[in-house]
Amino acid sequence: MKAPRPKKRFGQNFLIDQNVINEIISELKICDNDTFLEIGPGKGAITKHIIPFCKEIILLEIDFDLVNLLKRNLCEQHKITFINDDALKYDLSNEFKNTKFRLVGNLPYNISTPLLFHFSSFVSQIVDIHLMLQKEVVDRLVAKPGAKSYGRLSVMMQYQYKIYRILDVSAEAFNPIPKVNSSFVRLLPHLNRDVSVTDELLFSNIVKLCFSKRRKIIKNSLKKYIEQGVQLEKTVDLNLRPENISVSDFVALSNAISTFGQNQNR
Ligand code: SAM
Repeated sequence: MKAPRPKKRFGQNFLIDQNVINEIISELKICDNDTFLEIGPGKGAITKHIIPFCKEIILLEIDFDLVNLLKRNLCEQHKITFINDDALKYDLSNEFKNTKFRLVGNLPYNISTPLLFHFSSFVSQIVDIHLMLQKEVVDRLVAKPGAKSYGRLSVMMQYQYKIYRILDVSAEAFNPIPKVNSSFVRLLPHLNRDVSVTDELLFSNIVKLCFSKRRKIIKNSLKKYIEQGVQLEKTVDLNLRPENISVSDFVALSNAISTFGQNQNR
């Protein structure tokens, strides 16, 4: 049976460059007790090289036709769980309960940022993450304060993970050829952090608020808290723009606001 035609609405650009596939597999350093979750396995370009070496793999693919193709083509099916669902909606904690897993995927570009935020809810169950993403997204993931690409995504993801760009991949490595270049990236959840946020939702809201007015100094963006009496000037120079505030300084800002709120409520 012929493989189904690529569907644009599912961001289907299949990896065809065997050198890139080999490099990805080598970087994964697969062990025989590894449990993998692959998002968007497609026609199995990466999947079929993982299966022989891992303990088990869960394949989460939105396209029913591709799930059927994979079921027909992949060997060692006792190791494989097929799930035909949308990764953005799927509750991973159902699948894994107490098992830690390794996440891998060549993600569709249109949903890569929401998926990264979605995975963050499951970070305590994740051993590591290896993803092929649009190069511009990886630029943002690894950007440091002061860089043009530094923003909300950099702060939120660097708070959760140590992030390493492994490989830049040209558009010709895919079929059909996408309009953008890609990068393969590794995210390792922090085991021990120097600083931790006391209120994750507040932290997320503070980072979002500051970057929603990227050109403003944070004294203006955080005016509401300063007027309430939070002594933010003790934590960070409030005349800086958000693009110059480090992850640990965002944590300090958020924790100062959280502590102030708790003291007010006593
Ligand atoms: N991994 C394959 C490869 O490297 O050749 C396919 C990569 S292709 C860029 C993205 C894959 O993700 C497609 O198979 C597509 O159907 C699937 N996909 C798209 N949106 C998805 C979603 N929301 N949840 C799960 N899979 C999705």
